[in-house]
This record gives sequence, structure tokens and C-alpha cells, in this order.
Amino acid sequence: MNCIFCSIAQKKSPTEIIYEDDQMIAFRDINPKAPVHILIIPKEHIASLNDLNESNSSLLGKLILQAKNLARQQGIAKSGYKLIFNCGKDAGQLVNHIHLHLLGGGPLGGII
Ligand code: AMP
Repeated sequence: MNCIFCSIAQKKSPTEIIYEDDQMIAFRDINPKAPVHILIIPKEHIASLNDLNESNSSLLGKLILQAKNLARQQGIAKSGYKLIFNCGKDAGQLVNHIHLHLLGGGPLGGII
């Protein structure tokens, strides 16, 4: 399988890793949409939200808790931030490996 995020998780693509544990990895988005734009991904290849099941519920909670920790570390916890999962074509999902966007560091526009 040719997946850029699997490649990053396996350290086959050079990326500055911001956080890593046995289940996930976090790194800066290559094309940031905000002053702070970090992607938090599971190491396991899961294509999208549509592919999640009950066995992934703990992992999902951990991704969100880690995003909260990273927001604090990046100094944006008080000013505010968004967490976004894009799923599918209409949401603009470009990489088919589930990823949580952490965005902040300035006013964030958008429809939500
Ligand atoms: P999405 O539209 O939700 O699929 O978002 C995918 C994100 O991955 C985009 O914001 C891209 O800029 C980002 N991205 C793609 N390739 C890389 C990469 N090699 N390193 C860091 N971010 C990437």
C-alpha cells in the first residue's frame, strides 16, 4: 500500500515529529492553514472515519486527548483551537489515512 502517512509513521519519510507513542504520531502539516497546524494520526492504517468500529473507540479518545495536550504545549489552549476530521470527497479529505487536524494560533474562519 502506498500511503504517505503510513510512510511518515514508519519513519520512511522525513518529518519533524512533535509527539509519538506506540499508537500515534503527530507532525506539522506541510501546507499549514493556521499558525499552528498539526496532524495527529494513528500508526495503524485506517482510511477514514467510515472505517472505524467499536474496537477503535479507545484509540479515538486518545487522539483527541493528545490533541488537547498538544494545544496546551503549543500555547493555544486558552486562545482556542479547532479539531477537524475530514471524511470523504465533499469534506476535502485528500489523504486516505485518518488524521486529526489541530488548528489554532489566530482567528479561524470556516463554516463551523
Ligand atoms: P485532508 O484534506 O483532511 O486529507 O488533509 C490532509 C493534510 O495532509 C493536508 O492539510 C496536507 O497539507 C497534509 N499533508 C499531505 N502530505 C503531507 C506530508 N508529507 N507532511 C505533512 N502534511 C502533509
